[in-house]
Amino acid sequence: MSEDCLFCKFIVRDIEPDVVAESELALAFRDINPQAPTHVLVIPKKHVATAAELGEHPGDLAAVVALAAQVAQDEGLGAGYRLVTNTGADAGQSVFHCHFHLLGGRTMAWPPG
Ligand code: IMP
Repeated sequence: MSEDCLFCKFIVRDIEPDVVAESELALAFRDINPQAPTHVLVIPKKHVATAAELGEHPGDLAAVVALAAQVAQDEGLGAGYRLVTNTGADAGQSVFHCHFHLLGGRTMAWPPG
């Protein structure tokens, strides 16, 4: 846990997010500013800043991807969904607790902006 991290506060419920699913190592909650009919953030409970750091913890990485797949199934996204993580400021990362955006419920464009 990092003291001044918003997403760490969600994990310990100092602040209550709109949780959609949880596992031993990961938490999924709705994005406050949704960019698609389904927009859920899936995070590791371990505080790491970026996906690059998460790669050093393969069990936590696997837990995040597995929880995202479960949420996608629960949300009825069988036709497809996007799982994306912004890594670093140039990629648009604004919260430095690693998170994966699970986006679905509409057709996605490629490449992203
Ligand atoms: P990033 O820009 O890739 O780091 O994504 C951060 C995401 O966190 C954005 O999509 C925000 O809308 C989302 N976000 C920021 N604060 C909150 C919150 O309090 N609850 C849920 N989502 C949040």
